[in-house]
Amino acid sequence: MIQTEKTITSALLEQAEKSVLFTAKRPNLVMERGQGMYLWDTDGNRYLDFVGGWAVASLGHSPAVLQEALSRQAGTLVHASPGYFNRPMIEFAELLTSVSGMDKAFFASSGAEANESAIKLARKHGSVNLGGAYEIITLTNSFHGRSLAMMSATGKEQWKELFAPKVDGFKHVPINDLDACFAAVNNQTCAIMVELVQGEGGVHAVDEAYLYGLRKICDMYGMLLIFDEIQTGLGRTGKLFAYEHYGIQPDVMTLGKGIGAGFPLSAMLTKSKYDLFEPGDQGGTYTGAPLAMAAGHAVLTELLERNLAGNADVQGKYLVRGLQGLTSEYPITNVRGKGLLLAFDTPEGTAAELAAICLRMGLLINTPNSSTVRLVPPLIVTQQDNDQMLSILRRAFGELSAR
Ligand code: PLP
Repeated sequence: MIQTEKTITSALLEQAEKSVLFTAKRPNLVMERGQGMYLWDTDGNRYLDFVGGWAVASLGHSPAVLQEALSRQAGTLVHASPGYFNRPMIEFAELLTSVSGMDKAFFASSGAEANESAIKLARKHGSVNLGGAYEIITLTNSFHGRSLAMMSATGKEQWKELFAPKVDGFKHVPINDLDACFAAVNNQTCAIMVELVQGEGGVHAVDEAYLYGLRKICDMYGMLLIFDEIQTGLGRTGKLFAYEHYGIQPDVMTLGKGIGAGFPLSAMLTKSKYDLFEPGDQGGTYTGAPLAMAAGHAVLTELLERNLAGNADVQGKYLVRGLQGLTSEYPITNVRGKGLLLAFDTPEGTAAELAAICLRMGLLINTPNSSTVRLVPPLIVTQQDNDQMLSILRRAFGELSAR
C-alpha cells in the first residue's frame, strides 16, 4: 500500500517536472488534502500548517462555511457578467463597507489587481483633482504584488533591475523615516501607499508617529493615503483591520488573501468622495462574480461571528511568549509582529535549513529571507496547536545545532 502511494507521488513529481512551468523551488511532495490546521500529502504525511496557505487560509483548510456557500451559489448562479449587478455582489459590498469604515468596494481576484486598482484610482484623483499628478510614494522593502506595475511599486532591492523598463511613477523611501517621505513629495505626487506591517519584507511594522505623519502629509497636499492590507487585513493582526491598531484611517484600502480564505478574491475600498472612475477606466471579467462574492460574504461573516481577530490577538500573544521563552536556549532573536503575523530571526543563512527540518518533522513554516522565519497560521489556531508548533521548533533547533 505504502509502496503504491510512494509510486503515485514520484509519478506526479515527474509529471510536474514535465508540464508545470518552473517559477519556484518546491519540496519533493504533493499536497492533496487539507482540514483545519493540517495539510496532507500524497504519501499520507500530515503537516501542521503555520504558513496558512501563505496567510490565506484564515478559516483553516476546507472550512465548512466556504464549502456550503460555494455549493449553494454554484447551484444558483456562478457567473452573470461584469456588465450586470448580481445579488451576492451587492450584499457583500454592503457588509464589507459597513465593517471597514469605507464606503465603496471594487472587487478583483488577486492582491496585485486590487493594488493596481488603488494605483489607478490615485492617478485618476491626480488627473481630476491635482492637476495631473501621477507619482506614488511607496516604501523600500515593501511588497505589493507581481504584475508589472506592482513590481514597480514594490520596494524589493532584488527586483530593481528585473523586467526593465519598469512602470514609471513610483518613488521608494525607507520605512519610518518621515523626513525622507516628505522630501520625496513634489507637485506630481498623488498618493502614498504603505503596508502597515510589511509581510513579505520580513514582518516590520510602521510606527504610530510615522503613520500619523503620513496622514498629515496626505491631508496637507490632498494626496491619497493607501493602506495595502492584503496581508494584514481581515483579522490577521489581531484586529479586523491593522489600521485599527493606529486609529488612523486610509482613503483607500486593499484586501486579499484571507478575504476569500482560499477562494481567489480581493477588494479595493475607498470613500465616496473618491468614487471617481468613469466607464472604461476599471473593470475585469471576474469583478464581483457571484461565486467569489458568496465566498467572501461567508468568510467575513464567519470571521466576525467567531471573533477570529480576537483569537489572533490572544493566540499571537501566546505564541510570542512561547518564542521569547526559546530565546535563552536557541539562536532565536528579534521576535516581532502583531496578532498572527509574526517573525523571528535566526543566524544568517540558517532559515531555509530550519524550515526543511521542520517540514520533515511535519511542521510548515515560511522564510521570507535567509535569516527570518515568518509564522502566519490560520486564525483558528488554538493553544494546543501553538504548543505543538513550539515543541517541533525546539526539536528542529536541536537538530540544526547538532549539525
Ligand atoms: N500586497 C501584499 C502586502 C502582499 O503580501 C501580497 C502577497 O503576498 C500582495 C500584495 C499580492 O497579492 P497576490 O499575490 O494575491 O497578487
